Amino acid sequence: MTSTLIIGESMVELTHHTDDLLRKSFAGDTHSAAVYLKRLAGDSEDVSLLSAVGLDGLSNELIEALNKEGVSTHTVLQHPTRTIGLYMVHTDSQGERSFQYWRSQSAARATMALLEQQPALLADLAPTRVFFSGITLAIFDSTARAQLRELLEQLKMRGTQVIFDPNYRPALWQNKEETKAEYQWAFAVSDVVLPGLDDLNKLYGTSSMQSAVALVKTLCSGEAIIKNGEHGVTYLNADTQFSVEVAPVAKPVDTTAAGDSFNAALMAARSKGLPPQQAIEFAASVAAIVIQHKGAIIPRTELQHAINQLNT
Ligand code: ADP
Repeated sequence: MTSTLIIGESMVELTHHTDDLLRKSFAGDTHSAAVYLKRLAGDSEDVSLLSAVGLDGLSNELIEALNKEGVSTHTVLQHPTRTIGLYMVHTDSQGERSFQYWRSQSAARATMALLEQQPALLADLAPTRVFFSGITLAIFDSTARAQLRELLEQLKMRGTQVIFDPNYRPALWQNKEETKAEYQWAFAVSDVVLPGLDDLNKLYGTSSMQSAVALVKTLCSGEAIIKNGEHGVTYLNADTQFSVEVAPVAKPVDTTAAGDSFNAALMAARSKGLPPQQAIEFAASVAAIVIQHKGAIIPRTELQHAINQLNT
């Protein structure tokens, strides 16, 4: 059975139900990727999250929420004093969304230190593939980043495929130089990279898909799938390059988790043996559904058609 280990942070998400009533759910880029991957892949794939939470009730609720989705939590470690991060979504009168975070001391930032204290768990890790993102890197300090790098290199030697989405969030980094230095090794260690064109443009100053492709070729030697919203997707590896068109959604309701659900669907499709082009088409169709609903995690029923399509 394929097994995927996803490394990153799950947080509490608070959205306004009414002006003064908030709705609580759980989210985060890797959280969303884990949930969507498990929903789409079903029993044929073991999906686990490597992260950390606290010992408090809210942290336990998060573990329960992951378990309810079928995401394995045996690698969700529990920090003795910290708790999970939190963010609130504000929507202004024009419908523009902004986010406010309380995550600077989150338990997830201590994931690698907690993992080091569990040598048996660490030695047992041998997933088919491992997925991490630029946000995973950003929330770690330099010691944790070095530990993550070592873990990825070890897993690679055990035959694990390494997948990376740069998911660039400037606010989480000191400056671009710091980000580029970390991304340098993250791209190099990865067998598959899933960047968004916007992120590459913002961080590296590229200005077109063509210049982004040239840049990505210098950063990694495996497969790259470059997402560009409704303008399509570009695939490249050492031997080939092609574009895949995306059916545009004219008025997305909420683009949160577009890239995360795309990544999850792509992984699920590749596990089922779909070749890159069909896997990308499937991933784009799933992302298109996700952006037509509010929230990072949309109701499972809305994905049923995609789940059936993949599993028949
Ligand atoms: P990221 O969120 O990683 O920056 P994108 O914004 O490119 O990535 O979105 C990820 C995927 O979601 C795209 O590759 C595309 O398949 C889909 N997507 C995003 N916006 C649209 C849209 N307006 N219409 C159709 N598909 C979209």
